[in-house]
Amino acid sequence: MINPIQTTFRNLFESSPLISFAPGRINLIGEHTDYQEGFVFPAAVKQGIWVAIQKNGLKSCRLYSLDFDQEFTFELDTLSPKKGHWATYVMGMVALLNQAGYSVSGFDMVFGGNIPVGSGLSSSAALSVAIGTAISGLFGFEIPKKSIALYGQKSEHLFAGVKCGIMDPYASAFGAKGKALLLDCRSNTHEEIPAEFGDYSLILVNSKVKHSLADTAYNKRREACEESVRLLSAHFPGIVTLRDIPSADMEKVETLLSAELYPKAKHLITECERVHEAAAALKLGNLSLFGELLKASHLSLSKDYEVSCPELDFLAEKSWEITDVIGSRMMGGGFGGCTINLVKSSRIMDFESRISSAYSARFGIVPDFIPVQIGSGASILKEPADTK
Ligand code: ADP
Ligand code: MG
Repeated sequence: MINPIQTTFRNLFESSPLISFAPGRINLIGEHTDYQEGFVFPAAVKQGIWVAIQKNGLKSCRLYSLDFDQEFTFELDTLSPKKGHWATYVMGMVALLNQAGYSVSGFDMVFGGNIPVGSGLSSSAALSVAIGTAISGLFGFEIPKKSIALYGQKSEHLFAGVKCGIMDPYASAFGAKGKALLLDCRSNTHEEIPAEFGDYSLILVNSKVKHSLADTAYNKRREACEESVRLLSAHFPGIVTLRDIPSADMEKVETLLSAELYPKAKHLITECERVHEAAAALKLGNLSLFGELLKASHLSLSKDYEVSCPELDFLAEKSWEITDVIGSRMMGGGFGGCTINLVKSSRIMDFESRISSAYSARFGIVPDFIPVQIGSGASILKEPADTK
């Protein structure tokens, strides 16, 4: 990918750029836990975004998106990020960096990548992190990775209009080859856990559906968790979120919450615990336990948290029936998107054909399969040969 971006940059702007890279991400386990300051377990993938950048000595920034085959120019003194346009991700990062006191001057930029957009790999976070890394490198700002991740998150909130958690840009910034990140969404710190799958490979199955209840349901779930914390705090002094309650106290939690609130709280509490168990299983190389935890996570998201949908349930259940599959669960916010599956590498083709024919027979949709390998986080791949 680096070559077409570099060549396009040279053709358009006739100079030699700095090149940055930032990856997409998967989440092995730990869903809907981030907004209760819980634990998630993401990893960077090899697919990503490459950004070529060079100073242009102007007060404007000239951009070219290789994948959209579109150009866009904006003036630095009249920044107006527009929701829905790819250039918003550049303007958003520039606006936030300027606000933070980094003085970004005019630049030219070309970027493109190989993350399927809207498929659950978080192309938008990769884009923001690649842009932040490129600008930081070009102007010598030396912005810490965590700040780049936080600016990426804030840019999505303020300019793209997406209320995402820290996980996506964090994993893109901090990912490491062969490692998953046990990320604490309270302290925004992580522990690297070796994620080696031996004869097995990770593959996403994209259901290709997105049900419209996702946004309302998301807000309702957040509110349900906050309400549970309010009700439980009288009985569990010192708790700030549901993450602070150990699963050993589940019976007490059940007696204190309504039949509606309890299963939601139960998901949060058990899912945080499953993240730790999954990390421990990977440390020990216990893949079958890891797979059981993926299944338990799916069942909890589907039955207790009620954020799955018939398509995701079908995909996960079909995978559980296949002996060559160690684990499968919905990945992401739910109501559509992907499942993540750990499948025997030599049996991937058979897996794809069985899932594809069953899913298309049931829903009339041919699913997409996205093989993923755990790769490195954001970095600068190439310094510019000359500067203006
Ligand atoms: P995802 O789940 O992949 O993050 P989003 O809807 O959050 O999906 O973000 C997708 C948006 O990010 C695209 O509509 C586009 O504006 C921007 N984007 C992502 N990848 C690219 C790319 N390779 N080139 C240009 N813009 C991109
Ligand atoms: Mg996104």
